[in-house]
Amino acid sequence: MSASLEPKRTVAELKELRGLTADDNGAQRVAFTKTWEATRAWLRKKLGAIDGLEVHTDAAGNLWATLRGESEQALLIGGHMDSVPNGGWLDGCLNVLAGVEILRRLRAQYGGRPPVTVRVVDWADEEGARFGKSLFGSSACSGTLDMDEARGLKDRDGVGLPAALKEIGVDFERVKECGKELKNAAAYLELHIEQGPVLLDLDLPLGAVLGTFGVERHAITFHGQAAHSGSTPMNRRKDALLAAAKMSPEIYGIAAKHGGVCTIGSCTTKPGIVTSVVEDCRITLDQRHLDAAALARMWQAAQEAGERFAREGGVTVAWERLWHIAPMPFHPELIALCDASIKETCGVSHRLPSGPLHDAAEVARAGVPTVMMFVQSLHGISHNKIEDTREEHLELCVTAFDRLAEKTLQWISARSRAS
Ligand SMILES: [Zn+2]
Repeated sequence: MSASLEPKRTVAELKELRGLTADDNGAQRVAFTKTWEATRAWLRKKLGAIDGLEVHTDAAGNLWATLRGESEQALLIGGHMDSVPNGGWLDGCLNVLAGVEILRRLRAQYGGRPPVTVRVVDWADEEGARFGKSLFGSSACSGTLDMDEARGLKDRDGVGLPAALKEIGVDFERVKECGKELKNAAAYLELHIEQGPVLLDLDLPLGAVLGTFGVERHAITFHGQAAHSGSTPMNRRKDALLAAAKMSPEIYGIAAKHGGVCTIGSCTTKPGIVTSVVEDCRITLDQRHLDAAALARMWQAAQEAGERFAREGGVTVAWERLWHIAPMPFHPELIALCDASIKETCGVSHRLPSGPLHDAAEVARAGVPTVMMFVQSLHGISHNKIEDTREEHLELCVTAFDRLAEKTLQWISARSRAS
């Protein structure tokens, strides 16, 4: 589309960044650390080399680079430069650096002034590696950040989040003021490495993301009766583990029937000794689906199964909700544009949901039309130094993502003309 887009430059910059911020164990760009600050300084230098960009940090420490256009209506492109400890070389920074390359192309193509304003944002602390709470910068921006919970977060050394933010010049009590950055946001785009094996298994480089899964997370406790393992006949037992264990194959059937995913991730027993029938068995169930009604049906089905197994085993069952978040479907017209951009670039596209949460879900929750594009992950693995994507796929994703940015820019223009 334009001679000035250079996907190879993005790959070279990713390698440059890896050289600066990774060690033998992987990327070390944990938010609010020295390495992260060095990463930001490196990014600012890249942005500074592009004429006419306005760069600033908002009230929550998110970094914005703005190329003013004919209209104040803004196309947003987001990512995060922070990583988990021992992370990969692509998660988060690929998104930002692809955005930077798109800014270069737009500036050249439109003589410094595209039809709409275009902004690249580097969200602060997407990973939540230090304080155990992800999507800090984007949830402050969308307004969903729970201030009371965040105020009490501490890292392993007992340093609180407000104190860590103060170190980088951010006043915790004012972080939500960054919500004003979304004032003229007309669309939000995010490119990301898939973090799963779906595109790999289909042998496809790119996919259009339908939205992020909703999550129902519960602890389920079956309660029976402790009894001696030698003297209690099999027909007289109230075995909490027997009922809980039946849940394990059951959830595979539930996921298959409703099309989501279910995981029993932990199981603890009491008294937990070799000579006693299990009195209490606590398991955790994590269920995810892109459709809120289907997610509710999966949870309902799990509850019914739990009641049935408890009845059969003469034990009781109790449920405790640990966490819940609603699914966040992306914008249907932007999904179609994403699909078209991928097809124009490599012939075939695939639509898939995102299991992990992303900053994009927060922006979508704030009411901004949003879509994400995924690029294939070689091992289906991220948050690990083995995270990787073939270089030709990285170049394809920058090209396809740039096409999506151009289509979205035209889409914003057409919409504002129509209204
Ligand atoms: Zn990420």
